[in-house]
Amino acid sequence: FCPVSKPDVLNVHIIAHTHDDVGWLKTFDQYFYGSETYLANAGVQYILDSVLEQLKLNPERRFIYVESAFFSRWFNNQDPATRLQVTNLVNSGQLEFIGGGWSMNDEAAAHYHDIIDQMTIGLGLLKDLFGDCGVPRVAWQIDPFGHSREQASLFAQMGFDGLFVGRIDYQDKNHRLDLKNMEFFWNASANLKGAGSSLFSGALFNTYSPPTGFCFDLLCSDEPIIVSDKSMEQFVHETENRAESKNHCFVAKKCAQEYKKPNDDKSLPDYNVDKRVFDFYKYVNKQAQYFRTNNIAVTMGNDFNYQQAITWFKNLDKLIKYVNQYDGKEFKRINLFYSTPSCYLKSLNDADITWPTKTDDFFPYASDPHAYWTGYFTSRPALKGNIRRTNNILQVCKQLDALTSSRAGRTTSSADVNHLRKAQGIAQHHDAVTGTAKQAVTDDYARILNDGVVHCENVIDDALKAIKVKDDVHLSRHVFCNKLNVSECHVTEQNDQFVVTVYNPIGRQFLHYLRIPVNGKSYSVTDPKGNEITSQLVPIPMDVVVLPERNSTATQELVFLADIPPLGFATYFVKQTKNFIPKQRSVVRHVDINGKDVVISNKFLELTFDGTNGLLKQMTNLVSKVSQSVKQSFYWYRAMNGDNLTFKRRASGAYIFRPNGTEPNITTEGVSVTLVTGEVVKEVHQTFNDWVSQVVRLYDNSAHVEMEWVVGPIPVERNSRPDWHLNVTEPISGNYYPITNQAYIKDMKSVGAQFSVLTDRSVGVASIDDGSIEIMIHRRLLHDDAFGVSEPLNEPGFDEKGLRVRGKTVVMLNRVKDAMAAQRDIAQRMSLAPLVSFSVTSVTLEQWKNSVNSRDLFTSFSVLSIKETMLAADRTKPVGDFRWKYENNEIPDFRRDEEHRNEEVDNSLSFTLNPMQIRTFIATDAIPGS
Ligand SMILES: [Zn+2]
Repeated sequence: FCPVSKPDVLNVHIIAHTHDDVGWLKTFDQYFYGSETYLANAGVQYILDSVLEQLKLNPERRFIYVESAFFSRWFNNQDPATRLQVTNLVNSGQLEFIGGGWSMNDEAAAHYHDIIDQMTIGLGLLKDLFGDCGVPRVAWQIDPFGHSREQASLFAQMGFDGLFVGRIDYQDKNHRLDLKNMEFFWNASANLKGAGSSLFSGALFNTYSPPTGFCFDLLCSDEPIIVSDKSMEQFVHETENRAESKNHCFVAKKCAQEYKKPNDDKSLPDYNVDKRVFDFYKYVNKQAQYFRTNNIAVTMGNDFNYQQAITWFKNLDKLIKYVNQYDGKEFKRINLFYSTPSCYLKSLNDADITWPTKTDDFFPYASDPHAYWTGYFTSRPALKGNIRRTNNILQVCKQLDALTSSRAGRTTSSADVNHLRKAQGIAQHHDAVTGTAKQAVTDDYARILNDGVVHCENVIDDALKAIKVKDDVHLSRHVFCNKLNVSECHVTEQNDQFVVTVYNPIGRQFLHYLRIPVNGKSYSVTDPKGNEITSQLVPIPMDVVVLPERNSTATQELVFLADIPPLGFATYFVKQTKNFIPKQRSVVRHVDINGKDVVISNKFLELTFDGTNGLLKQMTNLVSKVSQSVKQSFYWYRAMNGDNLTFKRRASGAYIFRPNGTEPNITTEGVSVTLVTGEVVKEVHQTFNDWVSQVVRLYDNSAHVEMEWVVGPIPVERNSRPDWHLNVTEPISGNYYPITNQAYIKDMKSVGAQFSVLTDRSVGVASIDDGSIEIMIHRRLLHDDAFGVSEPLNEPGFDEKGLRVRGKTVVMLNRVKDAMAAQRDIAQRMSLAPLVSFSVTSVTLEQWKNSVNSRDLFTSFSVLSIKETMLAADRTKPVGDFRWKYENNEIPDFRRDEEHRNEEVDNSLSFTLNPMQIRTFIATDAIPGS
């Protein structure tokens, strides 16, 4: 299908494309329909309508489309005849899907579960609609603000032939241009070997924009190609009138040939062909100096371009015609043609040269000396936390849907699961989870997510009822209490007895501490076997009680340990009792600052808090006997203000982190401390000031420390003045990296200790001084950084006084040799936490024990056959059969991965996962009686 490159000339691939954000300045729906034009003149439905018409006119025209969320919305609205036309264009290669995820996901803040899921749903849709012709071969990450090696590895494991990116650090880019290293072989995994671990990748020359002066979109003001020449449309019209055949393709092909015949009528006063062609020659010859083959790609498109596709295609037709006729001796001759990224990639592969390699990330991304795009690693922490929790719900929902699809009584279906898959797919967009959309758009993302969660709650309720097979009539609907993050749950606060159902989405036993908001004096908690278990009533810190979004009378949480089987559930019966249970109450003691240290411990850990300032000062792993002095506190950076007229006057904003000094400010030198102890958990409640507080928590049976903080509203000073004279470099923000899960530092010298921090959402992290980890947990800014969003990142929160955020950080101290295994386990348990639901029952404990199947494993699920696919399940091997030569002494071990890809798993259904490896299998289950 690809146009043929010519030897000895410069082959220039025109990539006609549009970049359609699934929300940014406008919501997803507003962008699709083209409403709210005062915010952005952009309507995706018109883009696809218009491109379709233009592609039909000339069989040589090509167009790529990327965002499946928009495409699917549009395609669903088309009549059968139009759908057929689209299918024909896909089959002929004129319309090609590139990337193909539900959105173009961010790479810093998106969790890998979410990346795989959002690619799977987008690619699956294209495969369903268009078969093999709809399968994207090239990944297309042209706008995300930096790129991770992990993302490249995931794309390789999905079977993509190559990847193109748009934004790399400006210094890195200059360096790569000089060395002709813009295109390279990315060895994207330190752990995996073989084809699935590496990917040919290219950074585009001009991000994803057209050459200066050559934007022919309705939104642009560049000069069209002015010449007295018939347009393609005229040829079509004339040819159609005299054509023997009405066959569209025949007519269009004939027109394309007619059109190419020379006609250089210079009679118009504004005739500009010679100049425009000369300028284009100059541009592409310059670009070609920085690339290794005689093929280069020129992106012709931009954000929401092609709403009126004729302005682009009419001018590109002319540009192609006259550039190919030009015989300027001062330049290398050009062969200009419509192409696609996959055809361009093929021409690079055909060149059969040796490519440079890369092994690290493209983080952090800087676009100028004062624009480090490291702020968005943390921007909008509440949205980031919400998206992470939604992933947890989605994973549970997917599992329970699959595991119970054959059970009687199910009224929900996989379509309900897809509702949340799609919502979560949109949330991975590079202006969604990044926190870089406008506030109104962010609110709409929250609406979309909530809508999806409601669908999945129906699925989960349905599934749980279907597996509690004995007699479920006494239980009300499962309520999920989505405001447990502010310690609020109406079911548990308003009922004297209730049932708690906990589902474990991981394949190992899960010992999980539940925290249930209640307002009674004492409770009995009964486990699935009918035994009463130990529980503790823990006071909710005042900083949580007063959270403005909280609508709750609970002043304490009932805390107990749930023991949940792998991929199974456990139900607990909770009843308020009249007889007071003294040992259930916590001992609460306000600690005076008197110089005496406070120590809490369990069988794994000992934590010492400095008696003079209330801060954590020593951490000891009692099992491995590692002890480390630790100081943990909260700091804040004052943001650089500025008017952004030059890059030196750049303000800190939603994208950019730019502190106005090198040192962070400490919130307070000492904290007030309340010690809360009991049989289940020991807590140190610390209040730093009126906008920062924290609970440091040690559960009886857990080898890590939990730090749960409430931060906000961050105070702002409205009358500060810009200061231009401080740093000329960015020593802080330039050292920030994104983490989705965890960060650690090692002490290699003495004890071999590893100090690890795990977060409950994506954040920015840095280690500015040896032995320190700083995590940015919240941001509030009064200026915009001039990268388009045009709003300061100043989240109002529920009471309009500034957003408060409650989040959790887990801290571990281990010997280096044990640390990674322990961390990985906890990271998985944080992102795939048990899902808790509550239901009301009027039965007695005895009746409950007899009537409800309270603990179940999915033993009735039997697998008939299982087949491995590439990671996103739409292909079993990469479409292209590309081999690349690269600068390396190792011989790439392609066969190894391919061997296991197609292996039929043996009867025992056992297979091996290597470290960091993720594999996808499609299993067919045997449904009894069907
Ligand atoms: Zn974008």
